[in-house]
Amino acid sequence: MASVLWLARNRRCDSLPGLVPFEFERVKRERKIRVAVQRALAAIQKNVIRRLRREARESRTGLIANVKSVSDVPDDFEFWEEQKNEFVKQVGEQVADTILEGAFQAEKLGLAIDFDVVNQEVLDFAGQFMNEWWGRTATTTRDAMRTAIQNNIATGAPLSSLEDSLAPLFGRGRAQVIASTETTRMFAEGNRRGYKSAGIKTVEFQTVRDSRVDPICDALQGQELDIDDTSRFPPLHPRCRCWIAPITAEGAALTRVDTFGEAPQSLETQARGLQAGARKAEPSTTKALNKVVKKNNGKLIGTEHAIKTEKSLIRKMSKKVMEGIDPNLVGLEINDSLRYTMQFSKSSYAKSSQAALADLQAAGYRVSTIKNYWASPSEAYQGLNTTLLSPSGQRFELQFHTQFSHRIKEANHVTYRQVEGMVDGAARQALEQQMDELFATVPVPSGTSEMNWFDLGFEQVSPGMWEWI
Ligand SMILES: [Zn+2]
Repeated sequence: MASVLWLARNRRCDSLPGLVPFEFERVKRERKIRVAVQRALAAIQKNVIRRLRREARESRTGLIANVKSVSDVPDDFEFWEEQKNEFVKQVGEQVADTILEGAFQAEKLGLAIDFDVVNQEVLDFAGQFMNEWWGRTATTTRDAMRTAIQNNIATGAPLSSLEDSLAPLFGRGRAQVIASTETTRMFAEGNRRGYKSAGIKTVEFQTVRDSRVDPICDALQGQELDIDDTSRFPPLHPRCRCWIAPITAEGAALTRVDTFGEAPQSLETQARGLQAGARKAEPSTTKALNKVVKKNNGKLIGTEHAIKTEKSLIRKMSKKVMEGIDPNLVGLEINDSLRYTMQFSKSSYAKSSQAALADLQAAGYRVSTIKNYWASPSEAYQGLNTTLLSPSGQRFELQFHTQFSHRIKEANHVTYRQVEGMVDGAARQALEQQMDELFATVPVPSGTSEMNWFDLGFEQVSPGMWEWI
């Protein structure tokens, strides 16, 4: 029962778990900041619209009559000072906290930092950071407004269409971009101060090493930077998720990878490490999942196989190594050393699966990948495959099935194992076709192509494939 049966056929590059230090902490923090920014932007949008309406004094034709006063809004100093207050009111308290969290990461990496000094420094600096943050946000907002107003005037469209065109500027998408970029900035700033306090002189630029890494950052991966030369510190572009790792006096860059040991580890050792982690997290995870699945009228099946065997972990890692993954890091690529399946009736499947994921998120679990194969025309496999991070940081896989889709998956598994060991050719193709045909017999529960995870901060990047933004 390999629960990520179809991963190999769906080669998408996810970030390497474990290579990003404090990823879970970052996600929690980023989400908090996103909510605060979204609130701030919504308040500012209200004020902007009220102000534009007042200035526009629409003519009877619905067109903007007072073009001059509308055009002046982006440049009204006092008005924007008021918006700054609004912004600071919503996001202000996040700043010192986030930078401090970044500073304490130094301690978690094993560096000795002077808590009192760093604490005071950060408190002193938070105000400046807040000003600069608002400066960046306001500049973009006002520039975009100027352009929108000019376009609106040029086309002679009514005020309502100007309001519509401004909406994305204050929407969730922008809040997410701002949160993601500024969290990176605050963490880098905190990291820098923490490292510095511990006597670190140089740092190493680190990317998350996934397919979404910007080329600018990719080129900097592993580069040594002076701790005081922040010109090339992340973020280097919107949504940059890079960070800096301290280089110790011995010349080693400290990252979370170090917790896997400095000496190369055999696949067996890595498999045992993965199993140990899974075993530790299993009881509480099973309990939480059981609670959620019951609430949504489904059941958790196959829990006796929740922990993947050492043998299948090694088999899976060997396969990845053959595909070119670094054998010393391959353990970090395994998401399903702990894996679960929730089963729902066909009639409530779509609704229940979505609700269950939302419930888990609310219970402190972080959903990290969502693959809705029901909506993916390029994949024969039917089901919803997700990976999550437990509150303690354990990664696990969670699949959602109907009784039928689960049975077919199990039936095909035997064939799949056969196919795995075969060279490409007519025989293999025949078996693959046989599997595809079997999958095609699965009745598709209604509503599965409409399932969406916008509320969890995900966006659909291709049919059925959702990415956290
Ligand atoms: Zn970057």
